[in-house]
Amino acid sequence: MHTAHRFTPFGTTIFSEMTALANTHQAINLSQGFPDFDGPTIGKNIATKAINTGHNQYAPMPGTPILREAIASWASRITGIDADPNTEITVTAGCTEAIAATMLGLLNPGDEVIVFEPYYDSYRAALAMADAKPLFVTLYPTKDGFAYRPDELAAAFSHRTKAILINTPHNPTGIVLNDTQLDEIASLCIKHNTIAISDEVYERLVYPGNAHRSIASLPHMRQRTVILSSSGKSFSLTGWKVGWSIAPPELTAGIRAAHQFLTFSVATPLQYGVAELLTTGEEEISTLLAQYTHTRSLLAEALDELGFGVRLPQGSYFIMADHTKITKQLGLADDVAFCRWLPINAGVAAIPPSAFYSHPAQGASFIRFAFCKQTKTIDEAITRLRSALTKPNPKGHHNPKNIP
Ligand code: GLN
Repeated sequence: MHTAHRFTPFGTTIFSEMTALANTHQAINLSQGFPDFDGPTIGKNIATKAINTGHNQYAPMPGTPILREAIASWASRITGIDADPNTEITVTAGCTEAIAATMLGLLNPGDEVIVFEPYYDSYRAALAMADAKPLFVTLYPTKDGFAYRPDELAAAFSHRTKAILINTPHNPTGIVLNDTQLDEIASLCIKHNTIAISDEVYERLVYPGNAHRSIASLPHMRQRTVILSSSGKSFSLTGWKVGWSIAPPELTAGIRAAHQFLTFSVATPLQYGVAELLTTGEEEISTLLAQYTHTRSLLAEALDELGFGVRLPQGSYFIMADHTKITKQLGLADDVAFCRWLPINAGVAAIPPSAFYSHPAQGASFIRFAFCKQTKTIDEAITRLRSALTKPNPKGHHNPKNIP
């Protein structure tokens, strides 16, 4: 084995593993979160035009001016935050690079960072690359969602806390942090002089009755917050990998110090396409949200009917479902066993969320389904789940050849 020690705890990401399993068994892939349809035509046309009109050399290191301007207007419109495109906005290769650049650019070895779990898996690997120390605060299942315990959060803070990593709307639980929680986190950050790193990639995927608020918009927080976001989720362009950070100049300097040596800059023509979408894409977002509101209900209702314990997500495009009633009947031990069983026996793939916990057992009773799909895809997944999970003998094998 030649892999550096810092990566050996993480193996292959669960997203690659489960997508590969889905492909092998021709299963409907509700594991890795990506849409099964294309992003808006106007974005693709502008990117194509940029390719055909000579925008094919390196973009400036912090991003093309047109995209940084568009991000500034978008942020001001969506979160009420005014940012200087020259000194406060950096375009990155997806939010995943922004996460890594933030950790590598702002943390010193041994710095403590509070992380809510379950967490998006790259947080931990990025902290390991920076040689920083994660302190985990659990989001526990509640009657209708997931929540941290305020005493546990307060206890995690100390004079050693350099940063806290928050993610709202949250992957994988679908919760949106409410005003009380944001206020609570903000006052702890102020009290302990802590940086808030706020992953807001699902900022536009918030369902009726809920509202997204950036922690940067709270009093005294703008100067200590790094907002991370991307175009992937809002515009169904996960393969373009165009993300960004918004942070005050002193924090942006650190992020750019890392970004210049990680990727230097991001695909030039795609930045033109994203700039167009951020500026003119509101109607596309409304259509997308209507679609996801529909597939969210369809899938949640079907899972509930099948015996899963479902907490309706407030945002994001994931549902965390408690599978214990079902797996008990099937004689399967945990989420990993169930996620290996499902593609073969039901023709549907999902994510085992134990991969998102420092103590995997905490996630073992859940399974994560992505509903960022066309209605017909979700319908077919439901049909397959029903047939596999309501059969008298559910151990019968699904035959991929019968799938149209
Ligand atoms: N964020 C996506 C998810 O949670 C996947 C990202 C990835 O595959 N790296 O499904």
